Amino acid sequence: MIRRPPRSTPLYSSAASDVYKRQMQIGAHVSISGSLDLAVDNAVERECNAFQIFTRNPRSWFAKDLDPIQVKKFKEKLQKSRIDRMATCAHMPYLPNLSSPDEDGYQKSIKSMTQEIERCHELGIPYLVTHLGSHKGSGEENGMRRLVGALNKVAETNADVIILLENTAGQKNSVGSDFTQLEEIFSKCKPSKKFGICLDTCHAFVAGYDLRTKEDVTKAIKKFDDSIGLKNLKILHLNDSKGELNSNRDRHDHIGLGEIGKEGLGEIVKIMNKNNIPIVLETPIDDIRDDFENISKAKSLA
Ligand code: ZN
Ligand code: ZN
Ligand code: ZN
Repeated sequence: MIRRPPRSTPLYSSAASDVYKRQMQIGAHVSISGSLDLAVDNAVERECNAFQIFTRNPRSWFAKDLDPIQVKKFKEKLQKSRIDRMATCAHMPYLPNLSSPDEDGYQKSIKSMTQEIERCHELGIPYLVTHLGSHKGSGEENGMRRLVGALNKVAETNADVIILLENTAGQKNSVGSDFTQLEEIFSKCKPSKKFGICLDTCHAFVAGYDLRTKEDVTKAIKKFDDSIGLKNLKILHLNDSKGELNSNRDRHDHIGLGEIGKEGLGEIVKIMNKNNIPIVLETPIDDIRDDFENISKAKSLA
């Protein structure tokens, strides 16, 4: 991975202007390794004006309580940065399965998500992105019923956090890869003000929504708008795809180097900017490119 030299002009500025905040909101998933507040440093260093984090190790069910000092530092740094709080989000850990037919796992998932919502609230993060889970062969109807039940349960908290349902790649036993089905789930989530959508371009593409040309993107976004409504889209995950159209393979690729390519992704960036929807990259970090390069590539497409 390429290391960038420290910048001569600090990106933190007490005079963070509203003008800057209204500019393109684009960034990446950043690490919290070491301390939660370091996520803001990572985002600032990468010239992000939107970002996503895991509030803890995503491979564990539960986390220790947040350290109040880290929370304070996180909030202070975010305030001082040019990043708008409303362009930040957290992603749910991997283990919870909100569609699970297994009662123990289901209850544990609800508990885990409730904890995660409270953590976001404490940190002042307005959005929590969640996957929709696997019905594990118990059938779509059953999975969706369990999912909606879980989502309505976790939304009972007083936390000031909006749950964003992320469209899936359409893997076996999953629900919500199809916009119509996603809207069916979304419309059953109550209270509706506590819910929104996170659209992932890689997932949409491998689920069968062609995004390669401007025309393809216009068509796909229209389908999204007609069923779910663009106003409900709160965060966009901008990822290219290693998998082909309709392959249902959830493998993200570098911006412009995958199966979707520059034209389609560029058009998506433009549409999101026009609609003030923050963009978060979840692209790989490898010998080909790091976050710095993918973010700057994505910005250049606008
Ligand atoms: Zn996700
Ligand atoms: Zn995603
Ligand atoms: Zn993915």
